[in-house]
Amino acid sequence: MAGIYVHIPFCKKKCIYCDFFSVGASPENVEAYADLIIKEYEARREELGGEAVRTVYFGGGTPSLMSPRSLARILGSFRDMESVGEVTLEVNPDDVTPDFVRDIREAGINRVSMGVQSFDDAELRFLMRRHDARGAEMAVDCLRNGGIENVSIDLIYGIPGQTVASWERSLRKAIGMGLPHLSSYCLTYEEGTLLTRKRDKGEFEPLTDEECVAMYDCLASEMRKAGYEHYEISNFALPGFRSRHNSAYWNFTPYLGLGASAHSFDGRCRRYNPSSLRGYRERIEQDGVACEIEQESVNELYNEWVMTRLRTSDGMSLNDLQSRFGEEKRSYAEKAAASYLRAGDLKKEADVLSLTDRGVMVSDAVFRDLFIV
Ligand code: SF4
Repeated sequence: MAGIYVHIPFCKKKCIYCDFFSVGASPENVEAYADLIIKEYEARREELGGEAVRTVYFGGGTPSLMSPRSLARILGSFRDMESVGEVTLEVNPDDVTPDFVRDIREAGINRVSMGVQSFDDAELRFLMRRHDARGAEMAVDCLRNGGIENVSIDLIYGIPGQTVASWERSLRKAIGMGLPHLSSYCLTYEEGTLLTRKRDKGEFEPLTDEECVAMYDCLASEMRKAGYEHYEISNFALPGFRSRHNSAYWNFTPYLGLGASAHSFDGRCRRYNPSSLRGYRERIEQDGVACEIEQESVNELYNEWVMTRLRTSDGMSLNDLQSRFGEEKRSYAEKAAASYLRAGDLKKEADVLSLTDRGVMVSDAVFRDLFIV
């Protein structure tokens, strides 16, 4: 089993906090880009080792800027696709219209992940998003009316000016809509973003760590009360609606990443495409491959595996750890985990270690201590 990630690096406008690779969109650029993706897939499909592709994820950028016709062309070129797979498209609310929903369904999209970020208009303006709260609600209705029920939204907490009360209102709005999946992240200050420059100039007061922790607590408890599984630190799903594509990442399932700045993983090493549209285009036009290979050391793979497994509610199986990395690494992890088990930050059921609610708050320290540097 394997997955394919397709990066569509186009955005109409840069959001204040964003450090993802994205460039301005022109319709010709976006459609010509589909040809590059197809060419890259043809050149690299052997990397999937003949595994059936169960999930495809179009991320960005703003993949909803690509026409459904081009999305269909890309999907049609993936010859190893299993017939009943999860095919996710990230969308911006203001790209969602009844025609768009009909056309993406016909193209083969059966799951949508929408960057809503907040249901508070002042917060959305601060983040420089293209939509308002009403637009996001209308987009969800439009998706459902068009037959796409499997909708996930992203929400952000820790926004300057946000309060626990306004955050709770956004959460309750999402819960009230009965959405099957929600991803939620704390606003981060990445180097080079407008958000960080504005903070450094003193244009606003960032929220304190305590305020962000209170918002995370509110998120976890509201979602749990509403019947959502908290299946990964930042992800919540109604039963049966976990993201299959992202869950595969967390299980170290191989995936092929296509497009500018996309990463791939074959179970042993990672490949990185250039974060430059021109650099990507030139190399794909030349020979269909643009990636650099990075052979990871066993310790690096172990560290990534520990972190991704512990971020999930399924936790980290010590037996699995031993079979992947050997007995020595297992006993290292067990020794490092002991103090967190005593403190109640980790729990152990059979051979599986996982974070407790309290442990999630100190997860960075837990990961650091279990890592091998
Ligand atoms: S739409 Fe997404 S990728 Fe584009 S600028 Fe905003 S956050 Fe970044």
